[in-house]
Amino acid sequence: MTNNKTTFDEALDAALDGVEFELKPVLITESVLNKTKKEGSTSPIELCRTDSDSGSKSSIQEEQPIHTLNTGALDSALSKVPEYSTNSEFLNTLFNLKRCPRCNAPLVETLSISGSPSTDWMECSNKVCNTFVDMYHPMSHQASVHRDAHRIIGNFGSYGTGKTKTSEKEIEKHIFITPNANILLGANITSQYEQTLLRDFEKSFPLAFMENRSQQKGYVDFINGARLMLRPFDDPDKLRSNNYTLVVMLEASEINADAFHQLKTRLRNTAATYQGYDWRKLICESNPDSGWIRTDVLLVSDEIIQHGRFADEDYSKQQDPESIDKSISTHVASTDVNHFLPPDYIEVNSRNKPDWWIRRFLHGSFLFAEGLVYPHALNCVVPTPKDSEGNPLTPKHFPDWRVLVAHDYGLMDEATFVYAAVDRKRNKLIVYKVDHTNNAPLKDLAAMFRDGTKDVSFGQMYTTPIIDPKNNKRDYNKKDLISHYQDYGITFKPGHVNVEARIIRLNDYIESGNIEIWDCCTFLINELKEYKFKPKTLDDKSSDNRPIDKNNHSINALEWIGMELPANPNTLYLTGYDEYGRPMSEESEKMRLKASQSWQLSDTMDSDRTELDSSLAFGIRGGLF
Ligand SMILES: [Zn+2]
Repeated sequence: MTNNKTTFDEALDAALDGVEFELKPVLITESVLNKTKKEGSTSPIELCRTDSDSGSKSSIQEEQPIHTLNTGALDSALSKVPEYSTNSEFLNTLFNLKRCPRCNAPLVETLSISGSPSTDWMECSNKVCNTFVDMYHPMSHQASVHRDAHRIIGNFGSYGTGKTKTSEKEIEKHIFITPNANILLGANITSQYEQTLLRDFEKSFPLAFMENRSQQKGYVDFINGARLMLRPFDDPDKLRSNNYTLVVMLEASEINADAFHQLKTRLRNTAATYQGYDWRKLICESNPDSGWIRTDVLLVSDEIIQHGRFADEDYSKQQDPESIDKSISTHVASTDVNHFLPPDYIEVNSRNKPDWWIRRFLHGSFLFAEGLVYPHALNCVVPTPKDSEGNPLTPKHFPDWRVLVAHDYGLMDEATFVYAAVDRKRNKLIVYKVDHTNNAPLKDLAAMFRDGTKDVSFGQMYTTPIIDPKNNKRDYNKKDLISHYQDYGITFKPGHVNVEARIIRLNDYIESGNIEIWDCCTFLINELKEYKFKPKTLDDKSSDNRPIDKNNHSINALEWIGMELPANPNTLYLTGYDEYGRPMSEESEKMRLKASQSWQLSDTMDSDRTELDSSLAFGIRGGLF
């Protein structure tokens, strides 16, 4: 090699020379070693099929010799030609072999399972040679997944990142290196794999390696005893009867979390273990979403590998070091990783799209999963302050706090109490306690409320406790819910009805950093992760922007609390606002003007604030206690 200059043909020759020189037949055990311990199989796999009746066989391993191209040789050959080492055209040519690497006879098309010529594989025209070559050339982010040796892999990405192709090739690789493999491929409903991965697999996988298949029973058997099972994951109980070597979950975010946890325990099949090597694997593939793929895969991952210019979120802040699972890794890719797409693809497809859509479907971000109503709420979660005995602090520790309580009533549904307080010194709303129960009679709910407020002193209430306005209906006794609670000496007032106004108010507080949620409020935190707008397709012109009416019990209550606070989150040190966020006091206009200045003035403002009329909080009947 002279200088840095090498002609394309010279580079190709050099690389192929290296490959051919290093090419050697290896038994499957060594092949497995290469794939699981070293760098994996990003090079084409060349595979030699032995005739089933050719001579004696002493072991499974000897029945299935596999020839691999040595990736080390490829890498070192490429490193010698810097001009071409990152040139995809060169790499494509390199992988676009025309001749058999073993006997140099021309490569020709081979039939796939679907009956048409394989999209990926070629075979040697010399029938005695009996060599098959996989022409698949992974993009670098796909190669990264193929090389990943973790037991459980989250493979997440936005549109066009080739996730499904990666999973398909993982299945192919697994079949070839695992005699008697038991592979499970599934999605929530059958069409999610039949129309995607399975169809591509059938068009790629060489027919010569298939033994038989049963459409009805949903499996494909291969000549080395490997079986690919196809199942919908709608019922986790169905998954209990089998042990697998490889599980692939497509569109995983739509699959029940129970199925994921069930399947983790079903990776017991020892066909994918050999002499200390273990290549059992579970792959979850999905668009970014807010459910279990985020909490049970992404955020507990030992490694999070991001691919692409737009995949640059820092997820480490959301990870709890104590819950990291060494067996899990996650790959997140943004659409720009696909160099086959036009350079302006993201720009063109971002036009007139909602921010969350761009983030989720083009940037691959988990922080803006589809239509989350409060996408940044988790940034507000802080560790719960505790006393010397480890109990969470209460309003009795904060005499300056002004407490707000809201109650979402439900009989069959969750009944929820949210407790928050205005910390005027820090100009923040603190959400410090959330209680919930279901199927509880009103008597028990009243007791729950009394217990929840036992540490709130007289005069510490910011306003009357708030209750669901929808439940303010009269029952057959001609009494509404508020009247029923009054029988227990508890006075509620109805919360604000307008959902959009509530969402804007609470989001203003979240975005401005004027709200803190103690991490003991897990019920609320979990709802905030799941509460979403109705999914909309991109051509949906409807103006219905309301959220889906679930996962919102404690959120509704928090929203009612928000509607009691000033519209400007930086004026929390003032107290007493109406539902439109306007100060209620006589001094309101004067204070509003002061408040519109910097919040640092709060110390001076504090001294001349208007005292609350605490009788509001305890109702005309004389109170709670
Ligand atoms: Zn050949």
